[in-house]
Amino acid sequence: MTALEVDRVTVRYGATLALDRFSLHVGSGEIMAVVGPSGSGKSTLLRAVAGLEPLAAGRVLLAGRDLAGVATHRRGLGLMFQDHGLFAHLDVADNIAYGLRTAGVAPQIRRARVADLLDLVGLEGFEERSTEQLSGGEAQRVALARALAPEPGLLMLDEPLGSLDRALRDQLTGELRRLLTNLGQTAIHVTHDQAEAFAVADRVTVVDDGRPVAVGRPAELWADPGSRFVAEFLGHRNIWSVAVDGDGSLRWADQPIGRLPAGHPALAGGAGRRLMVLPATGLEPASGVEPASEPERCSLPVEVTEVVFRQGIHEVTARAGPGTVHVSTTDRLEVGQRLSLAVDVESLRSLSD
Ligand code: ADP
Repeated sequence: MTALEVDRVTVRYGATLALDRFSLHVGSGEIMAVVGPSGSGKSTLLRAVAGLEPLAAGRVLLAGRDLAGVATHRRGLGLMFQDHGLFAHLDVADNIAYGLRTAGVAPQIRRARVADLLDLVGLEGFEERSTEQLSGGEAQRVALARALAPEPGLLMLDEPLGSLDRALRDQLTGELRRLLTNLGQTAIHVTHDQAEAFAVADRVTVVDDGRPVAVGRPAELWADPGSRFVAEFLGHRNIWSVAVDGDGSLRWADQPIGRLPAGHPALAGGAGRRLMVLPATGLEPASGVEPASEPERCSLPVEVTEVVFRQGIHEVTARAGPGTVHVSTTDRLEVGQRLSLAVDVESLRSLSD
């Protein structure tokens, strides 16, 4: 079931087209990350859904109801921002209960709900803390509890972890996903950080220049980004111009790199030159892979130019005849080492330029 439907929404700021006939569906209980470079229209999308920007065209529907003319505070939304916006003059409990109080919820119900929410975000007993006594991560948890308090039909998070350091951010990303999933909370999570988007979301929408340019589950989007822009934005670095022969044989510049197996999607367009992407895990040190015995896996001679060790993985840059390649491997490689890499042509995908 669709919880949120953004239907061909256009928003203009003077001559700037911030959203250009933007459409997006978020299913009930789904976490949708919206990711894109700065200025691509992410915040405007949230503001349009919240009713904080007039729509030049299009509609926003929540649970099937057109929100045109519905005031922001009546839309059933929870909002959380990078700058958590907690009220400094109120303690933690009053911050969380703020929306409940204005909605006329009785004090004892408010108290019970605040305790439940603090429990949920891992801050039991924090009711009487002043907001000034909170660490950055705690403040974000209180802001989340406040946004969840009215049981919103849609939670909208705008760079919610943007002000935190990397370690805390990674920890809270996992917590946030667990918590929202357990609650069955429908959410839009806006971020410029593709790693955070991939970690938190069921699906990811990539935005460029006021339009969605790709939508998919994280693993699917990574494996098949569809366009050069999306591939580069997601952090792919093996983007090659490849010649495909009639029999599926591939050449990158003059270097044969293998043959596409029958039925591979990149064969659909027939012979010709294509822009292709290969994940860094699609290259691995070849031990005795003979092109003749295994035509799908050719070996590519390279010389290692850089090795970065990151959480058990070697991220290797190497020079090949046709250009630079990037490899993620658990094998230990050294700068200056010459070796052959096996190309997993199965995982090559075509890109539009
Ligand atoms: P993002 O959140 O992806 O960084 P925004 O939605 O903030 O992008 O902005 C989209 C575009 O609209 C940008 O070109 C930005 O400069 C412009 N914009 C945003 N807010 C305003 C505003 N209040 N007045 C004029 N232009 C704006």
